[in-house]
Amino acid sequence: MLAVRGIGAAIAGLIAEFRANGDLGAVTAREQRLPYQAWALSRLPRMTPNRLHTLKADLKVETIADLRRAIIEGAAQAVRGVGPQTAAYWLRTIDEQRDGVPIYLAVALAQQLVSHIEEHVPGARARVAGAIARLDEWIEEIELAVSGGKEVSEFLMSSAAVAALPVPVKVTRDSPQVPAGLVLPEELRGDLHVHSDWSPDGRQSLAQVVAIAASRGYEYIGITDHAVGLRFGGLDAERLQAQRTEIEKLGEQHPEISILHGAELNIARDGTVDFDQELLSWLDYTVAGLHSFLSLERDEQTARVLAAIANPEVDIIAHLTGRRIGIRPPIDVDLSAIFAAAADHETILEVNGHLDRLDLSADLIKIASAYGIEFVADSDSHRPAEFANVGNACVLLQRAGVASESVVNTWSLEALRTRL
Ligand SMILES: [Zn+2]
Ligand SMILES: [Zn+2]
Repeated sequence: MLAVRGIGAAIAGLIAEFRANGDLGAVTAREQRLPYQAWALSRLPRMTPNRLHTLKADLKVETIADLRRAIIEGAAQAVRGVGPQTAAYWLRTIDEQRDGVPIYLAVALAQQLVSHIEEHVPGARARVAGAIARLDEWIEEIELAVSGGKEVSEFLMSSAAVAALPVPVKVTRDSPQVPAGLVLPEELRGDLHVHSDWSPDGRQSLAQVVAIAASRGYEYIGITDHAVGLRFGGLDAERLQAQRTEIEKLGEQHPEISILHGAELNIARDGTVDFDQELLSWLDYTVAGLHSFLSLERDEQTARVLAAIANPEVDIIAHLTGRRIGIRPPIDVDLSAIFAAAADHETILEVNGHLDRLDLSADLIKIASAYGIEFVADSDSHRPAEFANVGNACVLLQRAGVASESVVNTWSLEALRTRL
């Protein structure tokens, strides 16, 4: 009956229905079971399709604002399968949200605009400026600094691509200068938090990682694949051993760069980390981070982080607060106790340049630096394009007024080795 391979009677029926009605009954029925802001609601931690359906069916929750009201009134907690803890966690997530769009989305939109301008306005040069360039967490206006201002403004005003954006666009001519002494991306001599495809979520081979690091002019690169304690799987002792063999081989092929063999350890609920003492001291260094139990109450969460900081085998605490902008709130902890302990134990705090993390934030870096803490600007790269995340970490360190000397990956390998 049909000549197209792979299209049977069922799909042919759907095509006929779509041509006749302009939609599909099955899809429409499913959509009607979902709240109006299903996309935003579904990004809340622990939100499931079932919970979305029940919230809509039982409480008529259509928007984030509806859900917030339902939690404050105590109704959401009573919904089947939700409970007070999840409701409280949703409320904290919602209350972290601000007007505008989260930074990672704003950067993606702004970069598309920059290419759009440079493609369509001959000779125009554009770059991201204002709140996005400063890496504010929430962006209410996309600001672009352009050469050929008037022409570009006229182009933007008439562009359908701009009208479709969720935030307005402004064109300026500012040229921000970084005060001397603050860390610049080109001062970084290496990156100490990088994943290869030895991690379940890594999308680059070890050979690629080393080649990219060398092409960036780094003196050293730290390999920190996830260790075994991570819920979705990581390296055990045997796999680490195998990885060391490959690292040594790559080291011979790339004499221009030193490869440090580290690991990203998972901090368990009780504050302990992966691996025994012997294995830990065999690694060149370790990065430890929280990846689960992010909603524990303050005392337990603080004790957990303090235990990791006090562990002499932990060199760096990765993405301390665990926040994902617009997705999940920071952990609830006593930050002054944590910063005091990190200074005491000389534990380095990471500034993670991932756009949805930006963790520590500029404000927290500023507070931490008053304790005499040292930092590392890391990419937490899982794929080649993410190596550039170190630039974001530098912007945050600049905003906090941190001097280059306090950023350990501006140091020589020799100096770094005595510290790790
Ligand atoms: Zn991590
Ligand atoms: Zn990582």
